[in-house]
Amino acid sequence: MEIIGARLYQYNLPLAWPLPLKGTKLNARQGLVLELKVNDDGFGVGYLYGEAAPLPDFSSESLDEARQQLGALMSSLLGQQVDPESFNSQEWCGQPVYPSVAFALESAISLPAILADDPETELPVAPLLTGSTADMLQCIDDWSSCWPAAFKLKVARGELKSDIYRTRQLLDALPETVCLKLDANRRWSVEQAVKFVDHIDPARIAYIEEPVNNASGSFIASQQAFYKATKMPFAWDETLQNPEFEFAPQSGLAALVIKPTLVGGIRRCESLVNAGRDAGVHCVVSSSFESVLGVNTLSALARVWTPREAAGLDTLNAFKHHLFDDSVALWQRLPDHVLQQMELL
Ligand SMILES: [Mg+2]
Repeated sequence: MEIIGARLYQYNLPLAWPLPLKGTKLNARQGLVLELKVNDDGFGVGYLYGEAAPLPDFSSESLDEARQQLGALMSSLLGQQVDPESFNSQEWCGQPVYPSVAFALESAISLPAILADDPETELPVAPLLTGSTADMLQCIDDWSSCWPAAFKLKVARGELKSDIYRTRQLLDALPETVCLKLDANRRWSVEQAVKFVDHIDPARIAYIEEPVNNASGSFIASQQAFYKATKMPFAWDETLQNPEFEFAPQSGLAALVIKPTLVGGIRRCESLVNAGRDAGVHCVVSSSFESVLGVNTLSALARVWTPREAAGLDTLNAFKHHLFDDSVALWQRLPDHVLQQMELL
């Protein structure tokens, strides 16, 4: 497949409510949409899209840095042949590529291969419980469809006592067959995390994502101390975003939460999925508040890589409106009214 043209657009989409991040609240989401015009031996001339949307507070790179690097890489790709099955942005570039940029480039170029493998089956879900405790209990009370295997709940955002109380209330309200997947975003000390687990029925917790901070020297050391004390299964999310991270099986490691915008491109994520699968560790493909364009690609990746796993992709309701509502067929150019919503860079 030859790259015969490339354009970069920037979107600015208002959010439905201010989104709390680590230090800021986001009122609008900005990101970049890469448009590649390609000539494929089988399909002729067509268009492919990828999204680079660094998430403030979470991504290592800023939007400006992503834009500059993506611009340079786009120029280097013009007139070149690339393989949708194996294109690797790091290898192409010969130096580190920002995770969001790697995701944009590799998902655009790999899209024909990804969609060719897409079984288009429905993914299981693990709905996120949000709002006040009363909102969460109401959501459980109103639940009318089939119960999922697990709901997801953020913890460690306030006092430990209220986390324990809320978690117990929710577990009491849920059918006994339903578990919680907790996410502490590295906010607890080992002592706090151990105390939390002491007050919760461990059989109802599938795992806790990144339970502990690195006060004991390193995240891995804290994690090991936590697991030794509790035997509570845990999952990695932020840990995978360290570019130096290399997968090795570990006692208690139940899942890898893989966010391609934050972890890097398709190739790196694919290697994590394969390593996790070989070690019997669950892999959960998750979004980072990308637009519908990025989330569509992530959904296809989740169906291809982890079809029986509940993916973490329910972030689109954070947007006031979407770039587009109808899906756009492979090789087709995005309609004019979609492109006109964005700034051509
Ligand atoms: Mg997480």
